[in-house]
Amino acid sequence: MPNDLRSLSIKYRGRFAPSPTGLLHFGSLVSALASYLDAKKHQGDWLIRIEDVDGTRCKESFATQILNTLHSYNLFSDEDLRTQSNHTQIYEQQLSNLKSKQLVFPCNCTRQSLAQNNGLHPSTCKSTTNQPHSWRLKASNAIYEYDDSIQGTLSFVDDLKNNTPILKRKDGYFSYQLAVVVDDHLQEITHLVRGADLIETTAQQLYLYDLFEWTPPNICHIPLITNKTGEKISKQNHAKPIKDSDLPTLLRALHYLEINLSSPQSIEEALKLAIDAWEPNKLRNIKYLPLEEQDQHFIS
Ligand code: GLU
Repeated sequence: MPNDLRSLSIKYRGRFAPSPTGLLHFGSLVSALASYLDAKKHQGDWLIRIEDVDGTRCKESFATQILNTLHSYNLFSDEDLRTQSNHTQIYEQQLSNLKSKQLVFPCNCTRQSLAQNNGLHPSTCKSTTNQPHSWRLKASNAIYEYDDSIQGTLSFVDDLKNNTPILKRKDGYFSYQLAVVVDDHLQEITHLVRGADLIETTAQQLYLYDLFEWTPPNICHIPLITNKTGEKISKQNHAKPIKDSDLPTLLRALHYLEINLSSPQSIEEALKLAIDAWEPNKLRNIKYLPLEEQDQHFIS
């Protein structure tokens, strides 16, 4: 169904899907707000989903603290929280579905063996299921293009060629790519509003939607907040956890979404005003936003 028809006939459902590998930082607050404001501007539902499939990096205590921080900014999920680690059988079923269509292959390759091929998986793989193995999606020549309402038309020409992403790792954990597509579909998410760092994952996700014969959501990407050297602010790049319930922090985060409120008295009031003021068109074609001087304290 074309996206415009889809959005006319189905209630808007958006989501924020943090991976609990650390506490919420300023860049994540900006992303959470963008998805929330877009959902509320469309009188839609906004869901929170904890993307903790990577059991080696995610911690329950981080998930709890991320939720507490979101709640302290009045950002509440309209439905029960979904936590991916509780749904691994569903990912297994969908992986079996791809296995039965011979769209995936087992792979015993190691990092060292792939290093000889610039880290890329070679076009053939002699692996078998007799040894510990991951499951990789077969490469495709499909080319995707879609209209991102913020970034404009995005074309993914070589994104799938020679690309055989892991859907299930050797250690048994499922990948983000598989889990995010399955969950967005099962939760009937109609709109993704997320950071521009995820643009590079999009072609692979659209390809999975096609393989499953599911309709993809509308997807758009907000500018990425970067540090002085142009890197995404992230835990690895010393982004500090934000304070809870801090109106000045909220106002600065809204500023990066082109919302400048004069003097709201509370977080609640600021959010209400921000929903009215949210105009994603103002961010059109902006991929990166460097952190301004006065906000450098959000990183250490
Ligand atoms: N869990 C992903 C992250 O924290 C976001 C997934 C998405 O928005 O598609 O980067």
